[in-house]
Amino acid sequence: MVGSHPGNGRPGGEEMHICIFDIDSIHDNWDSKVKTGQYLHQSELKQWAPLHNLTLLDGTHWHHGTALVVVADNTLRRGVISLFHNHVMAGHPGITKTLQLLLQYYWWPNMKTFVTEYIKGCTTCQMTKVNTHPTHPPLFPISPAENA
Ligand SMILES: [Zn+2]
Repeated sequence: MVGSHPGNGRPGGEEMHICIFDIDSIHDNWDSKVKTGQYLHQSELKQWAPLHNLTLLDGTHWHHGTALVVVADNTLRRGVISLFHNHVMAGHPGITKTLQLLLQYYWWPNMKTFVTEYIKGCTTCQMTKVNTHPTHPPLFPISPAENA
């Protein structure tokens, strides 16, 4: 009997072209929505610029460092958070991790508060959390949509 070793496959030997999610095109999609949002909220962005040290890269789009600024539009904000939080590939990271990932691409004032509220309102996260704190009643889901 020849013992076959389970771990002897060469890594990278198989072609990994099975790409169900094209994360880049998903980002592009939100990028263009965020940019359209900027176009619609230009006066707001001009007020933010000196306060938050925003820069107008490529002459049209406001950035905070290298991150694209997301205007006060809950659909946009929730959309970009979902990319890094409850997207199929994201796997519900915690507040800090979600914020960290998000900050590489997007920025808005007080985004930590927004991300915190978003994750507090995430049913999946709440279900996981209830088990770790059995003495605390679960928080009611918060819907940031009321805050427009
Ligand atoms: Zn979650």
